[in-house]
Amino acid sequence: MNSALMARAETGARDIEKTAHENNKLHKRLCRLVGQAIGDFNMIEDGDKVMVCVSGGKDSYALLDILMTLRERAPIHFDIVAVNLDQKQPNFPADILPAYLTKLGVAFHIENQDTYSIVKRLIPEGKTTCSLCSRLRRGILYRVADELGCNKIALGHHRDDILETFFLNMFFGGKLKAMPAKLQSDDGKHIVIRPMAYVKEADSTRYAEVKQFPIIPCDLCGSQENLQRKQIKGLMREWEKKYPGRVESIFSSLSTVVPSHLMDPNLFGFKDLKADGEPNPLGDIAFDDEPCSTPAPMPGAFSIQPQ
Ligand code: SF4
Repeated sequence: MNSALMARAETGARDIEKTAHENNKLHKRLCRLVGQAIGDFNMIEDGDKVMVCVSGGKDSYALLDILMTLRERAPIHFDIVAVNLDQKQPNFPADILPAYLTKLGVAFHIENQDTYSIVKRLIPEGKTTCSLCSRLRRGILYRVADELGCNKIALGHHRDDILETFFLNMFFGGKLKAMPAKLQSDDGKHIVIRPMAYVKEADSTRYAEVKQFPIIPCDLCGSQENLQRKQIKGLMREWEKKYPGRVESIFSSLSTVVPSHLMDPNLFGFKDLKADGEPNPLGDIAFDDEPCSTPAPMPGAFSIQPQ
């Protein structure tokens, strides 16, 4: 082999090694973040039977894959059943998921319910179909969870879904409300969990490519993507590019809430607030700096003096 060919072969081998290393790091990161969310919210306990909802989209495939890895390493025992609801949308490739899940060796159930026809019949042409569709889907999934004896229902929503919902509620619903990582189902019978709550969408997308999940397109029903959500997605993407760390910071603000500094009297007893004469070293400074003023250096902090 001449030297040019050898150099090219070496570069190729290095690239392959680098990609494998990156992929391994991605897998470890996803396991760590999913494990952390499960721990932080006590999502899964010993003896649980978790119904993992698999739609055929990248996030639910990633969720199932990571949960199966974590189950092998977990000090507790829990069962997993993958469930897909075939809503009889036109051209739904019904054989893809059963083939994939069989190969994966996970217990699974395919629920066949023609919600597509119901939605088409009840919603006039041109109107958005998603709210009725998801209501029907929710009811069916709760029933299936009962029938399968599952006490937990796991959904594949990730960090960006949670943030988008947060902004949608704030911009259009007048509420400071995101998407819960753990909640009681509205029938009061199950706990719904979102173990991917800390995972960035970009990581989920990359993981789906690495693992070559057999993705089923999500637009088979013909419904348009929610325009407002699309705009917020775009806004977040732009922030991520222009101001690295901003999206991260907004996300972390969701778990660092200060009710006394918001304006909901149901969360903080403003009406009964009285000065009790006790100094509180962690208390707030009533007359904060103007946002544009230079922050005073923290005691002992290193600072660079202008020359
Ligand atoms: S996009 Fe289609 S399948 Fe998804 S919730 Fe809306 S109507 Fe239902």
